[in-house]
Amino acid sequence: MAVVIKSVTKGGRCDKAGVLPGESLLTINGEEIADVLDYRFHQLNRNLTLEIRSDCGTVRKLEIKKGEYEELGLEFETYLMDKQHSCRNKCIFCFIDQLPKGMRQSLYFKDDDSRLSFLFGNYVTLTNISEHEVDRIIKMHISPINVSVHTTNPKLRCKMLNNRFAGKALSILKRFADGGIMINCQIVSCPGINDGEELDRTLDDLEKLFPQVESIAVVPVGLTGHREGLYPLESYTRETALTTLLQIESRGDKFLEKYGRRIVFASDEFYLRAQKPLQNADFYEGFMQLEDGVGMLSCLKDEFDWALEQAEPSDIKRKITLACGKAPEAFLRSLFAGIKDKFPNITVEVVGIENKFFGGEIDVTGLVTGGDLISRLKGRALGEKLIISSSMLRREGDLFLDDTSTDDVEKELDIKLEAVPNDGQRLLAALLQ
Ligand code: SF4
Repeated sequence: MAVVIKSVTKGGRCDKAGVLPGESLLTINGEEIADVLDYRFHQLNRNLTLEIRSDCGTVRKLEIKKGEYEELGLEFETYLMDKQHSCRNKCIFCFIDQLPKGMRQSLYFKDDDSRLSFLFGNYVTLTNISEHEVDRIIKMHISPINVSVHTTNPKLRCKMLNNRFAGKALSILKRFADGGIMINCQIVSCPGINDGEELDRTLDDLEKLFPQVESIAVVPVGLTGHREGLYPLESYTRETALTTLLQIESRGDKFLEKYGRRIVFASDEFYLRAQKPLQNADFYEGFMQLEDGVGMLSCLKDEFDWALEQAEPSDIKRKITLACGKAPEAFLRSLFAGIKDKFPNITVEVVGIENKFFGGEIDVTGLVTGGDLISRLKGRALGEKLIISSSMLRREGDLFLDDTSTDDVEKELDIKLEAVPNDGQRLLAALLQ
């Protein structure tokens, strides 16, 4: 294996040692470098021997001494230094299979790459991981890995992932746990399929891997209106969401009593769907699964309330509109009701946007599109500005999922748009500034 060096940082160790762009890195301290994990791991040493192959094929060895946290200063063609691994499943609940046709091509790519799990927190199913990769993770002791478990019933996992190897892949969880790797688990819960008794079985099995299993997030399946020809699945109703939510909370109570930590959590969507009040921020034990929407709204409320407590009262007068998905609409209204004591003249109108682009039951904020914003808000008096969540935007933060740009929305609605991240302090600041 060899990875081609794209650029060399001027003045860095490799530049000083005479490494040139276009040359290839073969090994570090005798270890082959195949991708970003190899590179990051092996360059941690202070004393390095690099094997470099020049353009004309000559191989030379370079001895480099560097500080513990000092980078070597090499850049490669792609971030992973290798091709991204795509998934080998056809999950019955896969969101990508339910996307409308004609979206950006990159949105249809199905990644399932353990490197991205360590680097960016992506979830992997372990169905396409090689023996070499499993051994390497254990040897390098890189943690945590985020795993889409869904169920520990091997037969059911094969059915849910539409992959005959999906059951066998579960044995890798045990190898990781035995190797001291920390694991965050995700379960996409499908009514009548992997909830109820199956969910109990999964949690029983994962409990056997404590404390290596650090957290378990249970999220309800999301169904769009584009499921023609796909496995027939149902969405959670208020009743079924409540049953599953209570099952998860009760298991969390038991873990808390036994291990001092709750470990398993339902995502916010379960609370909203079940119309059950959200938990307080301290329920979430440090918000380990925020990316899965676990405790995201409680965290936002906690930060917002804290920032509001610090804020100086003012009689500034303004009207602002905030657009979100239908699911958190009521929550956000009640959040903003709290500002009236200190800011009696600020009016925040919260508008939940029906998701016509994805259709079906999709009601989360992160999937609201520019087209739906325009058709819902056109002709409305929106006040000084329109606040949206930056989770609606992709690329450089200027494009919605339907390829409408933020400029298009500003022009069509004749309003200044402000995208705010999921951060309560920044949200309050956006209302006050
Ligand atoms: S692992 Fe399953 S859900 Fe994820 S991209 Fe592949 S098919 Fe879709």
